[in-house]
Amino acid sequence: MTAGPGDLAARVLGPVLLPGDDGYAPELAGFDLAVGQRPAVVVGATGAADVVAAVRHAGERGLAVGVQATGHGITVPADDALLITTRRADAVRVDPSDRTAWLEAGAVWSRVLHEAAPFGLAPLAGSAPAVGAVSYTLGGGLGVLGRRWGFSADRVRRLDVVTADGVPRLVTADEHPDLFWALRGGGGSFGVVTGMQIELVELAEIYGGGLFFPGEDARAVLDALLVAGRDVPNEISLSAMLMTFPDLPAVPAALRGRWCCHARVTSSGTPARCEAAIAGLRRAATPLLDTVRTMPVTEVGTIHNDPTTPRATTSRSLALRAADEDTVATILRHAGPHAPFVVEIRQLGGALGREPTVPDAVGHRHSAYSVYVTTSYPRPSARTVPDGAAEQALLDDLGPWSDGGALVNFLAGAHVTAADVRAAYEPERWERLVEIKTAWDPENVFRINHNIPPRDRTGTRVPG
Ligand SMILES: Cc1cc2nc3c(=O)[nH]c(=O)nc-3n(C[C@H](O)[C@H](O)[C@H](O)COP(=O)(O)OP(=O)(O)OC[C@H]3O[C@@H](n4cnc5c(N)ncnc54)[C@H](O)[C@@H]3O)c2cc1C
Repeated sequence: MTAGPGDLAARVLGPVLLPGDDGYAPELAGFDLAVGQRPAVVVGATGAADVVAAVRHAGERGLAVGVQATGHGITVPADDALLITTRRADAVRVDPSDRTAWLEAGAVWSRVLHEAAPFGLAPLAGSAPAVGAVSYTLGGGLGVLGRRWGFSADRVRRLDVVTADGVPRLVTADEHPDLFWALRGGGGSFGVVTGMQIELVELAEIYGGGLFFPGEDARAVLDALLVAGRDVPNEISLSAMLMTFPDLPAVPAALRGRWCCHARVTSSGTPARCEAAIAGLRRAATPLLDTVRTMPVTEVGTIHNDPTTPRATTSRSLALRAADEDTVATILRHAGPHAPFVVEIRQLGGALGREPTVPDAVGHRHSAYSVYVTTSYPRPSARTVPDGAAEQALLDDLGPWSDGGALVNFLAGAHVTAADVRAAYEPERWERLVEIKTAWDPENVFRINHNIPPRDRTGTRVPG
């Protein structure tokens, strides 16, 4: 049997594309260029019915199924698989009466922020509003409002899911509670999510921005950040990025070509309380640039100022139980003006560390910090692809503070291994995820992801 469309094109509203078709390559375009892929067939889904048809088609032909929204999180190539792209299905509907939003699989956070703002409401978006809201949430979702309101996954009310048998299902705390637990933090291994209802928070404005210090002051700044971080109220989130800014006109003159320690502050409380909490950080050194201000919550993306142009990256990440001055010293032995990578340290804690009313599968909930090391390179080619060794060497030296693995959303790029995914969950959580996967997707149809593999009948892993 061929992988080709057969009568699939007649059963979906969106395009069905094969290798060589006009539109096939553009349909695959996404943010992360590191993972090249060649699916057997691509379905540009316009909604849940297209997803049902695509999953059934894949089932009839024994094809694996991959899903892509924005391509910010591609880790496994959908080679020879059926890839469902969701960007056409991006509706967002806000219900102010119960402070929720329902959104389709292709919706990005900027759209949800935009639609919620007129009601004085906001979602628990991440640092980069161009990221897809569904996948971000399936992976937990660590945002700058998280210390006050928890992971994005903690605020899901309902999921519309097409499971491996091609059946559309409503998944809530009462309907298929095992799937509801697994999908919220366990990722895309359990089905294709076509819709998601999330709780919004009452928030119109935030206070925050960046304090860009000279890299030479990184030690004092990071030490002060850790000290401040121990006591700040949960309405405040702190993080830092160590990086050399490119010498380009688009970069503020004070930062061009400079090695910097970019401290980021976000507060959903009053400016005065925030300033009191970060006074020690401000005293640590003199910033080259200070962008801290009151802003509409729709501008939350300006705080981290993550890149928005597609790029290839090699990344490694680790959650830490704790951090102290020795942790800072260890990081600074690797990071510096000549390091190929940037290093990000995000503070966790607060509501992130509390299991929600309806528990979910988010791993490393009790960690204190998340460290993310990433190298961008121009184009994936045999000559230019970094092997990830320098990034891993830094994480290896952070062993004494390790919480055993990374938050799954921070496992990015082509170097993610099965062991990395397993280490993103505590052992009991992992076992439960594998049980649920085995019940719902015993053939591992959904394996183009941070894969939770099922057991086969002998109790061992089904190969992906
Ligand atoms: C610049 C940048 C900033 C980021 N900031 C944060 C942050 O602040 N906090 C955080 O927690 N994470 C963050 N991330 C990580 C991000 O949340 C994940 O990479 C996420 O998976 C991206 O989702 P996407 O839909 O945009 O990407 P895609 O590459 O389109 O999707 C990633 C994977 O999700 C799965 N998937 C996508 N859609 C569905 C669906 N409808 N049903 C089932 N599975 C699906 C597929 O396996 C797919 O391969 C960031 C990533 C980048 C590149």
